[in-house]
Amino acid sequence: MLDKPDYKQIIKEIEVELKSIVSEGKVANYIPELAKVDPNKFAFHISSIDGENYGFGDLDEKFSIQSIAKVFSLTLAYKLNGEDIWKRVGVEPSGNPFNSLIQIEQENGIPRNPLINSGALVISDILYDTLSNPKVDLLNFIREITDNHDIEYNIKVANSEKKTGFRNSALINLMRSFGNINSDINDILDFYFHLCSVEMTVKELSKAFLLYTNHGKLLTNDKEIITSTMAKRINAIMHSCGFYDEAGEFSFKVGLPGKSGVGGGIAAIYPGKYSVAVWSPKLNSKGNSYLGMKALQLLTAKTKRSIF
Ligand code: GLN
Repeated sequence: MLDKPDYKQIIKEIEVELKSIVSEGKVANYIPELAKVDPNKFAFHISSIDGENYGFGDLDEKFSIQSIAKVFSLTLAYKLNGEDIWKRVGVEPSGNPFNSLIQIEQENGIPRNPLINSGALVISDILYDTLSNPKVDLLNFIREITDNHDIEYNIKVANSEKKTGFRNSALINLMRSFGNINSDINDILDFYFHLCSVEMTVKELSKAFLLYTNHGKLLTNDKEIITSTMAKRINAIMHSCGFYDEAGEFSFKVGLPGKSGVGGGIAAIYPGKYSVAVWSPKLNSKGNSYLGMKALQLLTAKTKRSIF
């Protein structure tokens, strides 16, 4: 048995070591509002299952969680619709960029998984059909699992993406042609862009991800949000698909289920032990945070705790 890691000391060492790494990469600019973010922002926060919380950097600054929010919409759709969702979206890694169109045409409108854009659009369509007040109900769900009622959509970011979201538009139209989108395309795009515009601090994000660390139950009150089997499956999908065509590399170097977003955030979990969130807006060529990946690589090396 390994001793429990000294998280406090390890986080200090990570802070020092990251200072010597020059961040390569670029801030996402295909969503104009995101291009305005200071590239040098950085924050790191870990929440352990037994209540330890440590972090450094811009801890109280909200950022656009973007595709990380796809995990929350998947969780709600799975909770409300059960295994039926897998009739419309798969559970296989795509090996392609997050906004790729190629497989949708080849695979008859069924996205490979719920964490690429096509899959998240199908999940948005499912939720739109299921919820009575989609935007409000989804936000309330995210607030519940974060235990924080200040979580909001950033309407400017959502509208900015609406103006330039041509690939998402292409994806949803293509899927509609195969009969895998039911509601009005513009309503679903609007819902999806709002989902991606959710803002959180790294503290809030690591707290929200404790749900997946804690096998589907809220740590604060032991309420079961999803069954432990559902939590296990969502973690499996994060592990195999959360970093798109870099999922293998993330597994190889970090070894945790996780999810990235083009806002520069990454959230990851070690089942039963901890959840961690990191934010650094400069992205590598696959759209994942350059320094964020380095920080998590240091974390699993130093704690000797990854799923492997
Ligand atoms: N809103 C972004 C998009 O659809 C999310 C992509 C991401 O974070 N990888 O392009």
